[in-house]
Amino acid sequence: MKAAVVTAFTEPLQLQDRAVPTPGAGQVLVRIEASGLCHTDIHAARGEWPVKPTPPFVPGHEGVGIVEAVGPGVTSRTEGERVALPWLGHACGHCDHCVRGWETLCEHQQNTGYSVDGGFAEYAVADATYVVPVPEGVSPHDAAPLTCAGVTTYKAIKVARIRPTERVAVFGIGGLGHLAVQYARLVGATVIAVDVEDEKLRLASELGADHVVNARTGDPVAAIEALGGADVAVVLAVIPSVFEQAFASLRRGGRLVCVGLPPESEGPMALPIFPTVLKGISVIGSIVGTRQDLGEVFELHARGRTRVVAETRKLDDVNAAIDDVLAGRTTARLVFEF
Ligand code: NAD
Ligand code: ZN
Ligand code: ZN
Repeated sequence: MKAAVVTAFTEPLQLQDRAVPTPGAGQVLVRIEASGLCHTDIHAARGEWPVKPTPPFVPGHEGVGIVEAVGPGVTSRTEGERVALPWLGHACGHCDHCVRGWETLCEHQQNTGYSVDGGFAEYAVADATYVVPVPEGVSPHDAAPLTCAGVTTYKAIKVARIRPTERVAVFGIGGLGHLAVQYARLVGATVIAVDVEDEKLRLASELGADHVVNARTGDPVAAIEALGGADVAVVLAVIPSVFEQAFASLRRGGRLVCVGLPPESEGPMALPIFPTVLKGISVIGSIVGTRQDLGEVFELHARGRTRVVAETRKLDDVNAAIDDVLAGRTTARLVFEF
């Protein structure tokens, strides 16, 4: 099978011919139909985060495909079913986080395309318990971006506990952001989209953003203050200074929802104590979403409540695709289709 492999953090991905893996006990073998390129895959391939994956590995945590075989002991999934292989590839299932519905915080988790091989390949094996069925009415092309970009921003909007009268600023209208705008609209918020590319802001308006701010040509903090300040700022950009702008754009009682994960080399964000205390600001970290969250994301999409904007690419062009994401040349998501 064809697979895109990270062989070293300093090298482009290599297209390799590998043996189709065999599903072990509790696993399924999935023939991948579509696989989205998340900015996380770029951080992974370059070893940009404090906890690094170990090359060689196959990135990809937006893989969607058909179960071709099940390993010993698997009763939850059957051959022929369409499933998604999300970032949360495995959790222990019995720690307090897992038990109270926060499996995404499990300390014994495995991450698809990071600690275990992911979806940038024609086939992948996965823990049968942690793959998520894709319902009828959601195409593989759409299911792929929903598997990370969708579930992550859906969860970020959930944890922000937004009321319909609130203003939500979304910083970064890329793969994640184009869906964040839609989930914020679905809970009734007034949405302010911030990016540095006019093309992405045009898309945000099309998807329901009430206001757009180009942070390259103007000061987003002043622009959002002029609108009365944000009750919630969701940060999806990969630059620490954008987190600081998002913080500064909040009104009293505001919530800063941190989702983007800039390279470690970019350094920390500054969190000023005085305004945090005096304005009663909450800082919330939000990491992907659970199987339940992803099921809800698929259900909303099947009901026609969301729109996925994605361009199709070939896995052979994986390195060019990465360059395009880094240069901001893509509209929302890129999806490799097989
Ligand atoms: P992306 O590259 O598609 O989107 C980033 C967007 O930020 C782009 O549209 C870019 O134009 C915009 N941007 C650049 N500079 C900006 C600025 N100064 N102000 C505002 N916007 C700016 O990336 P993505 O796939 O959407 O991922 C975004 C981040 O989220 C990555 O760091 C990724 O690793 C992280 N992520 C986190 C989680 C989680 O669970 N917390 C899950 C998935 C991805
Ligand atoms: Zn992702
Ligand atoms: Zn656990």
